[in-house]
Amino acid sequence: MKDKSVAHSSADIVVSNFIRSIIDEDNRSGKWQRRVETRFPPEPNGYLHIGHAKSICLNFGLARDYKGVCHLRFDDTNPEKEAQEYVDAICENVAWLGFDWEGRQHYSSDYFDQLYAFAEYLITQGKAYVESLNADEMREHRGTLTSPGQNSPYRDRSIEESLDLFRRMKEGEFADGRYVLRAKIDMASSNMNMRDPVIYRIRHIRHQRTGEKWCIYPMYDYTHCISDALENITHSLCTLEFEDHRPLYDWVLDQLVDKVPCHPQQIEFARLNLTYAVMSKRKLIELVEGGLVDGWDDPRLSTLVGLRRRGFTPKSIRLFVERIGVSKADSWIDMSVLEDCLREDLNESAPRRIAILKPLKLIIDNYPCDQEEDCLAPNHPKKPEWEKRVVPLSKTIYIERDDFMEEPAKGYFRLSPGAEVRLRYAYIVKCVSVEKNVAGEIEAIHCTYDPDTKSGTEGATTRKVKGNIHWLSVKHVLQAEVRLYDRLFSDPYPDAGDKDYKASLNPNSKEITVAYVEQSLAEVKPEQAFQFERNGYFIADRVDTKLGKPVFNRVVTLRDSWGKVSGLA
Ligand code: ATP
Ligand code: MG
Repeated sequence: MKDKSVAHSSADIVVSNFIRSIIDEDNRSGKWQRRVETRFPPEPNGYLHIGHAKSICLNFGLARDYKGVCHLRFDDTNPEKEAQEYVDAICENVAWLGFDWEGRQHYSSDYFDQLYAFAEYLITQGKAYVESLNADEMREHRGTLTSPGQNSPYRDRSIEESLDLFRRMKEGEFADGRYVLRAKIDMASSNMNMRDPVIYRIRHIRHQRTGEKWCIYPMYDYTHCISDALENITHSLCTLEFEDHRPLYDWVLDQLVDKVPCHPQQIEFARLNLTYAVMSKRKLIELVEGGLVDGWDDPRLSTLVGLRRRGFTPKSIRLFVERIGVSKADSWIDMSVLEDCLREDLNESAPRRIAILKPLKLIIDNYPCDQEEDCLAPNHPKKPEWEKRVVPLSKTIYIERDDFMEEPAKGYFRLSPGAEVRLRYAYIVKCVSVEKNVAGEIEAIHCTYDPDTKSGTEGATTRKVKGNIHWLSVKHVLQAEVRLYDRLFSDPYPDAGDKDYKASLNPNSKEITVAYVEQSLAEVKPEQAFQFERNGYFIADRVDTKLGKPVFNRVVTLRDSWGKVSGLA
């Protein structure tokens, strides 16, 4: 399908996709009276990740653009794995991404009574039966992809007997696994999902919302379509692996045509696969529980709580989802696409500050010992209305160790013996000598400055030099913990095929250092983001930043330096 740009409201131009084409066509034909109602249906059995963000942005975004509504529905039919902790985290994530379900917060468990009544109805219609075979026997009867299944000997048990057994299942008379309820469809179907799928099972386990009320729980495929229909959903979006489940989705609703308000359309789209990340809940749990990362919100994880803590903004994630589009073809998106969206957002929104990550002392020999002066640095190079801030200069300053090379490589325009650079917002300096300790390591470098070259001063010499480096006065710095994060995996496809993703964990994905930063940063609030000039984008850690004691996470470098020698511009 060709993408084309269409205006959905006077304000935004959005890129069309095959789902929008379906909705446009439905609106033309009047199928839903121009109603668009979608839902995001997470199972509360783990934390959301960036793949879920695609589904959230898609569902809420369509509802917004078509003046419809989107529900947040918890698919909570597996009480053994689900918990309120996850419900709370999911609500927080969706709201953080900027979407509002306006009170439409539903749970599949809200429908347990109706789901049960519909199951009894299916039995009375000869469309469901209680199965006595155990799981192994059922598997043996199921057939394979190339051979049909066999009917269970219990398939034709009487309606009365099935109804009686089903009611007794509900009353708690039987142990787990003793019986199941199956839809009576077609054991010879070429689609395995249609071979009399199980729709109810016995589980003597407390449910986080319905407590002890139930000891039988409906299966996902049976629950999902009915929940959609009861909520009047129009377009039920899911990932491609559910394509083979669609005939079952439709079959269930066809049986209940007089009982539910509508028959939503299931539409499948390709899930997000992101390089250098793992997204399966199972693997995320292994990383967290195995102590391979620092919890669910580890800034290197692709969970939404992790991305948030790292410093990804809701806007950058929404932009990312918009940019990657939606299609029916499975593909991989490179992590750099996500990082670029973040750079785009932060380049606009993050005030500039200076931090020295790996300090080297520079002494300006001809600068008076007791002198201090104000240099003015813009808070944003493209936003004069953000004004300038004062960066004080004195005789002894810190520069980045990488900004000096005793024996400069070809094309190196920063400091080296005899070379000149501009100290940003201040003077041109020239390196005159190098101070070393007994081990021969450089301890400090000495420069002279040219007093006629102060930036922004009228009448200053406009001599041009190639290097332009940042610095902070030793007397005027604040120490701050800085966490330099990098990609968690060094393999772009850490879990492709049978690969052990743990084998490609990047050992250098987290480096903690103490940096020197501008003193004004003592007052930062958690989650304030900055560009530390030439060093990248940083955010005040939302958990560990305390008044007077900021902790910064590197969100992303200024340019995509992955795979190349990382260094300063
Ligand atoms: P698991 O990781 O165990 O496969 P899940 O990620 O499918 O679970 P759900 O809570 O069922 O977890 O997902 C909620 C919704 O998010 C579903 O509609 C699902 O299709 C969608 N979703 C999940 N992963 C992705 C992904 N990578 N890309 C796009 N949508 C996704
Ligand atoms: Mg799922």
